[in-house]
Amino acid sequence: EPSDRNEGEVSGAKVIAQALKTQGVEYMFGIVGIPVTEIAFAAQELGIRYIGMRNEQAACYAASAIGYLTGRPGVCLVVSGPGLIHALGGMANANMNCWPLLVIGGSSERNQETMGAFQEFPQVEACRLYSKFSARPASIEAIPSVIEKAVRSSIYGRPGACYVDIPADFVNLLVNVNSIKYTECCMSPPVSMAETPAVCMAASVIRNAKQPLLIIGKGAAYAHAEKNIRKLVEQCKLPFLPTPMGKGVVPDNHPNCVGAARSRALQFADVIVLLGARLNWILHFGLPPRYRPDVKFIQVDICAEELGNNVRPAVTLLGDINAVTKQLLEEFDKIPWQYPPESKWWKTLREKMDSNEAASKELASQKSPPMNYYTVFYHVQEQLPRDGFIVSEGANTMDIGRTVLQNYLPRHRLDAGTFGTMGVGLGFAIAAAVLAKDRSPGQRVICVEGDSAFGFSGMEVETICRYNLPIIILVVNNNGIYQGFDTDTWNEMLKSQDATIAAPPACLLPNSHYEQVMIAFGGKGYFVQTPEELQKSLRQSLADTTKPSLINIMIEPQATRKAQDFHWLTRSKM
Ligand code: ADP
Ligand code: MG
Repeated sequence: EPSDRNEGEVSGAKVIAQALKTQGVEYMFGIVGIPVTEIAFAAQELGIRYIGMRNEQAACYAASAIGYLTGRPGVCLVVSGPGLIHALGGMANANMNCWPLLVIGGSSERNQETMGAFQEFPQVEACRLYSKFSARPASIEAIPSVIEKAVRSSIYGRPGACYVDIPADFVNLLVNVNSIKYTECCMSPPVSMAETPAVCMAASVIRNAKQPLLIIGKGAAYAHAEKNIRKLVEQCKLPFLPTPMGKGVVPDNHPNCVGAARSRALQFADVIVLLGARLNWILHFGLPPRYRPDVKFIQVDICAEELGNNVRPAVTLLGDINAVTKQLLEEFDKIPWQYPPESKWWKTLREKMDSNEAASKELASQKSPPMNYYTVFYHVQEQLPRDGFIVSEGANTMDIGRTVLQNYLPRHRLDAGTFGTMGVGLGFAIAAAVLAKDRSPGQRVICVEGDSAFGFSGMEVETICRYNLPIIILVVNNNGIYQGFDTDTWNEMLKSQDATIAAPPACLLPNSHYEQVMIAFGGKGYFVQTPEELQKSLRQSLADTTKPSLINIMIEPQATRKAQDFHWLTRSKM
């Protein structure tokens, strides 16, 4: 119900929408219901894009991806109690990834607090663990400044999630228009630079390196540091290794990319420059045996508390990656230097890259069905549009896919990330596709999902079809989590026992036709079992720009990764 019929009065819902608009918010993902429906209407009326999703968790993943891709927070709008609780997964994921996000949650009425109100829950407290800032405005008049603070907190310093709680009684309450002052749009984050002596020292450590390595993380992608980092790589002729979402900051096919020799590069580098990547589990904590015990780390990060985590760095450069990279470049302009391209280190790295690539190609050459992961990904890579977004999740699907599928542009890969979250894929794909539709029509989103990963938010296919988003979902289907069984084995196993007693925990129903989910909502669905069928369905999906599609790719249920130097990299839990 429009509740601001009285002239000179404005509803809380409209104040919230206007405050968001004033802070430059462009995208809102959510699910409407009591008490937030009016907020969604008001936001849409002001030109904020509202995308209605099917589960708050996926909505929150989508909003967080907007933050990473644009540098300004997307909003996730949720109802009270369970709605907010569903969104906590997305908040935690955003916070772990250091991505800006603003969650707006409806909550129960103030005058029913502690009485067992509808969907009552301590929401501000609940969000505190998953955010940088969590607050409830004390009045409608306070909404604009609280929203400004939330938006600002989400992008200043280390980016992260923020929460603003909106009591149900605010939404339709009318206040005098003149009592509301909209706080000006917060300024872009201030750019901080490293101390000059530290920059000099870093340059000198790099110059003296025998086996240098740059590690490019998603912090570098977020910082839009691609031009300067590429310059550093090319000017100093340094080998670089992207982390999963650091892929594309410098293109994967750049001659200095040593992604294909990852373990080797980490193990023997004597100087490592960390550009926006934490020494957490993804980088094996920076510790032996994955690294030399005497490796010198040069850590570049915007977050002071991050510096020195797990290792004692040789040099710390506290500041914005783009600015600090520029400072390093200036040092190398003063006294030009380049790492010798004919060094033994380069030879070691090249040999390892060649042998790793040969081993993958060998596996990919297997043409007779059932296909393995490598066969699938080599065919996908062949047709992958260079400007496309790659979204990926699943265990083997993501790990192997990452080594074969190439990124050519920064901020064009979204995956399970720091938190290792399964279920992010469709939300991320939806956010990327909404942006693509707005900003670069014709651009596609290729969403590469394991069959288990797809299941977490499978109903978002309806969202994809409702908004007709340019998404191609590939379900790499091995009938299970990590691994599954073929139909015959499955039937044999359950011949004499009920599935609830005997079905192996990692199994999913064999031969599931996930493509029918897409067909159900009017998209295109393909069920493929051979390399030829895969090639053809990819061609057709890419050619058809009028509809989303889903290709259900059946692979060998017991397929795994190729042998690894470090056995614990083979994450099979079966
Ligand atoms: P990856 O998963 O790619 O290894 P992480 O998420 O672990 O990357 O690390 C990203 C790091 O980048 C975080 O420590 C974060 O504080 C930092 N960061 C984010 N934005 C910037 C920026 N503009 N300048 C410097 N560091 C940044
Ligand atoms: Mg699977």
